Amino acid sequence: MPELPEVETIRRDLEKALLHKTFSQIEVIDPFVLRTPQDKFIDALKKKSVEAIDRRGKALIVTCVGRDKVYLVVQLMMTGQLIIEGVPDKHTRIIFHVGNGRDRSLMLYNDQRRFGQLRVVKDLSDVKHLSLLGPEPFDAAFNPKYILEYTRHSKRPIKNLLLDHTFVAGIGNIYACEILFRCGLSPKRLAGRLSLAQAKDIHQYSIQVLNEAIEARGSSMRNYRDASGQEGGFKKLIRVYAREGENCPRCQSPIQRTVQAGRSTFYCPQCQK
Ligand SMILES: [Zn+2]
Repeated sequence: MPELPEVETIRRDLEKALLHKTFSQIEVIDPFVLRTPQDKFIDALKKKSVEAIDRRGKALIVTCVGRDKVYLVVQLMMTGQLIIEGVPDKHTRIIFHVGNGRDRSLMLYNDQRRFGQLRVVKDLSDVKHLSLLGPEPFDAAFNPKYILEYTRHSKRPIKNLLLDHTFVAGIGNIYACEILFRCGLSPKRLAGRLSLAQAKDIHQYSIQVLNEAIEARGSSMRNYRDASGQEGGFKKLIRVYAREGENCPRCQSPIQRTVQAGRSTFYCPQCQK
């Protein structure tokens, strides 16, 4: 599932390819992924020009202007991909025709498992998912004091809290595991027992891990691809995720896997207390 760094990589690619260009036509091949009626979806986007491409958590928000201003909100979920200049295949659900004449190109929405969602809204507050999101990890609002105050009475393991988007937006399973490894914190530690120093570590390493991952253009677990269809480079930098039984890069003891809230957690029991 694409997490914040993967979606941010796609956002930057789309910005280069789409900004100030016009959707000349929208072809809906599989309306299953739409959360706006097909006719309205096409009508709202056709002949509109792309004014901005933003990200909130794992959602992409494309601001489109023309007769009126609308937002195309894309949640890629498990296997959604937005590919520029791709060739449509059996997983292509929507084809966005961009530009006219010689300048014409295609943006494909591909989605193998069809859990992704695309919608067009006039007001972003109509998207319930967005209104529930906590601060972005890079926002000033996400800071050690906020982490301590939010977690003070929590009886949940810190790993589960990092995956909770009402606490912090955009962090998924891969990066939650990697952040806690760098903090030297057990994923099972109760969030309500964090010290100020540990809250500072969570803040600092969240930013560090996510920045490194963005710089490496994301991780390619399963079928993540950036907007040009390429894999990400962060996979080589992953220290614990999906490395059960391999040696911990810090202490050489075997990395373990456990299951928390139905998700696999990978950690080093020696380094993470
Ligand atoms: Zn270790």
